Amino acid sequence: MRDGGGHYRQIIVGSGAAGLTAAIYSSRAGLEPLVFEGSQPGGQLSTTTEVENFPGFEKGILGPQLMDIMKKQAARFGARFVSRDVTGADFAGGRLALQAGEDSYSADSLIVATGASPRMLGLENERKFIGRGVSTCATCDAFFYRGREVTVVGGGDSAMEETSFISKFASEVTLVHRRHSFRASQIMQDRLLANPKVKVEWDTVVTDVLGDEKRGVYAVVFENVKTGQKKEHPTDGLFLAIGHTPNSSAFAGQVQTDDAGYIVTHDGTATSTAGVFAAGDVVDHRYRQAVTAAGMGCMASLDAEKYLAAKG
Ligand code: NAP
Repeated sequence: MRDGGGHYRQIIVGSGAAGLTAAIYSSRAGLEPLVFEGSQPGGQLSTTTEVENFPGFEKGILGPQLMDIMKKQAARFGARFVSRDVTGADFAGGRLALQAGEDSYSADSLIVATGASPRMLGLENERKFIGRGVSTCATCDAFFYRGREVTVVGGGDSAMEETSFISKFASEVTLVHRRHSFRASQIMQDRLLANPKVKVEWDTVVTDVLGDEKRGVYAVVFENVKTGQKKEHPTDGLFLAIGHTPNSSAFAGQVQTDDAGYIVTHDGTATSTAGVFAAGDVVDHRYRQAVTAAGMGCMASLDAEKYLAAKG
């Protein structure tokens, strides 16, 4: 939908767990927020299948269905939605102005909940098999690989942590790293290398994901970067743990970010710009869970409400 811009009491950018929870709280508080859903409405959960760790759903729920329920819950209290991306921001002089294509928006308060995108390898089949053998979230999906063989890509702390977590379920985990030394902290490396269920393929990259409609992923292709030798490696799942990119580029230079681009918050969810709050994976590279993002979305809404009340 295109609504031509305008001024709003509150704008929420992002429609994942953080943005939609903020929208539920803010709409119940009568702020009639406008939510920019972005190019991936529902955020990362919209690309997952079964979600079994979101409280309140005893038997689990499909990710897209969970996000749809959250959206309806916010709409019920008056949140409005636009299916577009914010392309730029200008907070000079204390005015909170946003650009979406040719249209200009402004707000008395703003909640940035644009999330983060898991880095992908860039292989054609990798996106095709997301949720059917390819995963970017061990906490979410390791449980489905009980007694099976799993491959993990990465060499940082996330790869160490996720490989250890997956090994509690899988029969065997092959960790693939493109160099011959890990980036991860020494203590996490030591723990990983002592794990009898884990085998490491050094100097190796994954160049293809093999699967079919019926079984999902059944193998990946390894290439040794030193010898150029390729081999097919049978596996039931491919977990990518090669980092995330925070979706903060539209706000570059308008709020403080850290070196990796995550928005820096203080006193709860306040950013370096008055009236601008941030929540979810665009802030948090540590927990990255739907439930923690939802919690931060709630905090951002309460913080914004307090800010608006103080401003009169
Ligand atoms: P990261 O530190 O950026 O590591 C990413 C890893 O993936 C690197 O080993 C990198 O290889 C590899 N990689 C990147 N792109 C690749 C590609 N296209 N193909 C193959 N491999 C690729 O990311 P992270 O592990 O998610 O950690 C992010 C931050 O969170 C870090 O500051 C980390 O310390 C922190 N963290 C902390 C904990 C903890 O303390 N418990 C847990 C998780 C994360 P190279 O090494 O060759 O570049």
